[in-house]
Amino acid sequence: MSGAALVLTYHSISGAPGPTSIPPSVFAMQMQTLADCGYSSASVDEFVAWHDGKADFDRRVLITFDDAFADFAAHAVPVLKQHGFSALMFAPSRKLGEIEDWYTNPPTNRPLMTKDQIVDLAGQGMEFGAHGRTHCNLTELSGDALAEEVKGSGEDITAWLGRYTRAFAAPYGAVNAQVIQAIKGSYRVAFGTRFAKAMRSDDRHDIPRVDMHYFRNSWAWRNFLEGGMLYFRSRQLLRGVGQRLRG
Ligand SMILES: [Zn+2]
Repeated sequence: MSGAALVLTYHSISGAPGPTSIPPSVFAMQMQTLADCGYSSASVDEFVAWHDGKADFDRRVLITFDDAFADFAAHAVPVLKQHGFSALMFAPSRKLGEIEDWYTNPPTNRPLMTKDQIVDLAGQGMEFGAHGRTHCNLTELSGDALAEEVKGSGEDITAWLGRYTRAFAAPYGAVNAQVIQAIKGSYRVAFGTRFAKAMRSDDRHDIPRVDMHYFRNSWAWRNFLEGGMLYFRSRQLLRGVGQRLRG
């Protein structure tokens, strides 16, 4: 894992249908497995420090959520706290307190957190990033309309929390060169939907993530995590052999 960083993507922690909902029991298993494998959660700043080459990310994980669903507070936060983990939530700032109206197949009508809940959870150590104001497809916008969504959503959250919002995730992972340029103007780091571990060579404003929809099976999740550690340990072993041969 020394050359790559693990960034996870979640949406809703609920029994709602579709790939963007993970049942609370499965989420609990995924977090327990991370803890069992010796992982600790990282902050946005720690991730950026790794990407800058200033820190390692061995057995660290950046846990992200998109959309600010209300079930984050109810079902995710207690489990995160149980393991001493924090998470980074990307919130559509002008949709808070409403019902989602963008995932229509299947329609799930999941409620979103309120602004007050976000302020409260920020005080409990959770981090918040921007996700546009209205969860629209940014590639269909330009000029002032694009700036409203990209820059404006971070300004909303910065005003509520009283600290600069460093991170952004584009709704649907939908970006083009113009959108990436707009994101670069306002944020230190941004995350997409490409499925991969992050590398230092990745564009700071288009970092890939691992969608946890694909790890609902505990064996597959543990195997993925342990595979990374085996690789890491084999590298350590080879380095040790090399040093003995040279010595
Ligand atoms: Zn979203």
